[in-house]
Amino acid sequence: MKNKITRREFLKTSSGGAAVTVAASSTLLLSSCGKSSDEAKPMAKDESKPMAKAAARVVIVGGGFGGATCAKYIKKFDSSIDVTIVERDASFVTCPFSNLVLGGLKKIEDITHSYDNLKNKHGINVVQDEVTGLDADKQMVKTKSGKDLAYDRVVFSPGIDFMWDKVDGLSEADAEMTPHAWKAGPQTLLLKKQLEAMPDGGKFIIVAPPNPFRCPPGPYERAAMVAHYFKQNKPKSKILILDAKDKFSKMPLFTKGWETLYPGVIEWVAATKGGIVTQVDAKNKTVYNEAGEAIKGDVVNYIPHQTSGAIARAAGLADATGWCPVNQKTFESTLVKNAHVIGDSSVSSPLPKSGYAASSEGKMCAAAVVSAIHNMEMPDPSYSNTCYSLIGPEYGISVAAVYRYKDGKIGKVKGAGGVSPKDGDSAFRNAEAVYAHGWYNSITGEMFG
Ligand code: FAD
Repeated sequence: MKNKITRREFLKTSSGGAAVTVAASSTLLLSSCGKSSDEAKPMAKDESKPMAKAAARVVIVGGGFGGATCAKYIKKFDSSIDVTIVERDASFVTCPFSNLVLGGLKKIEDITHSYDNLKNKHGINVVQDEVTGLDADKQMVKTKSGKDLAYDRVVFSPGIDFMWDKVDGLSEADAEMTPHAWKAGPQTLLLKKQLEAMPDGGKFIIVAPPNPFRCPPGPYERAAMVAHYFKQNKPKSKILILDAKDKFSKMPLFTKGWETLYPGVIEWVAATKGGIVTQVDAKNKTVYNEAGEAIKGDVVNYIPHQTSGAIARAAGLADATGWCPVNQKTFESTLVKNAHVIGDSSVSSPLPKSGYAASSEGKMCAAAVVSAIHNMEMPDPSYSNTCYSLIGPEYGISVAAVYRYKDGKIGKVKGAGGVSPKDGDSAFRNAEAVYAHGWYNSITGEMFG
């Protein structure tokens, strides 16, 4: 490991109160690694006292589900490490529960989170800037403001970006007319505004993307939440989902929930039944399917084909698939040394592209980064995913799974987790809706609390 920080800088970092010595904080990491803390203490030459050590530097690209969690856990494991998150936005708006904003159950402020606690309580440097490139040889992250950052390890968690050229007639600017709302914030509010302006009796079209994409149950929860909004405000309106797939996540649970709460409102068209959209005329709110049929809506939510975050590709972390291959144990890039990729951008199947999985990867990546800095072997990790979807305010469904790294790859643990029962009664569905809110508070509290 290259220790580039000076002793003076290290002492300055440590004097904030949040930071403790490497030796003391190593205990936490090691207890989770199954080794005694004595094995980890960096010792001074006379072997009698723990040695004060210059801090290693970790730069994290993106302060979302993967990045914020990873930063916090690196600090938990070893508070002497100098951790910097570079995030484009001043605050983070979660995609989870953004469908509830469309449904009128939440406001955008309810899903907007500040970085203040990460900065002030956890001693993480949060820099509002855009990462524009990576110099892997010099171990430098390049930013738009020109303030380049040196690192010993860099972790990328930039989420997804869109492929605008997968259908005819569409450009990125058209997202102002046919909002994707697949990155929460202004796009969510734009889609909401269009739905509010839509006449009663109008048609809302959701174009669901092909795999792999961020949040497999997301389009179907969106249909339910918009149906809830229509039920309250525009009861004659309809929803059409044109899908690039023939099946989708939690399909029997969604289908049953839609029919229970919104009979006749949501129509789903499978890929093989005309659901594949090949052309979009954003101005006229018209989409064309493979058979050339024109389908016009009053509001069109075109969710584009997806790829890894643009910066991950620019940094040379993606392969020909557009996604970023990683060592499945440490999430270190197989293409760029000392760089890790977590969250939606990484290739980590069977883990889904979800916030919970990104956060789970963030924790394990934190352990991998701290282990590497301390030159220790990391034990085999396990991961989990829990995903709730709300079909109505008192109607929730869920899926959960546990994953383990074994024989060089991540695999699902048989018999762990599962989909919630289809025949759950109203009390059961209500309990799942309550748990969904608990899930949200718990994961965002862990990231930003
Ligand atoms: P993100 O959380 O998106 O974080 C990426 C961050 O990187 C962003 O803040 C971005 O601004 C920043 N960034 C990108 N490029 C740069 C750059 N060059 N410089 C600086 N900063 C940069 N998941 C669940 O688990 N449960 C749910 O209920 C759920 N619901 C969802 C509903 C919807 C409608 C959608 C669209 C998604 C949902 N998800 C859900 C999925 C979840 O949002 C993503 O899987 C998760 O955000 C991925 O985490 P990430 O860290 O990879 O990316």
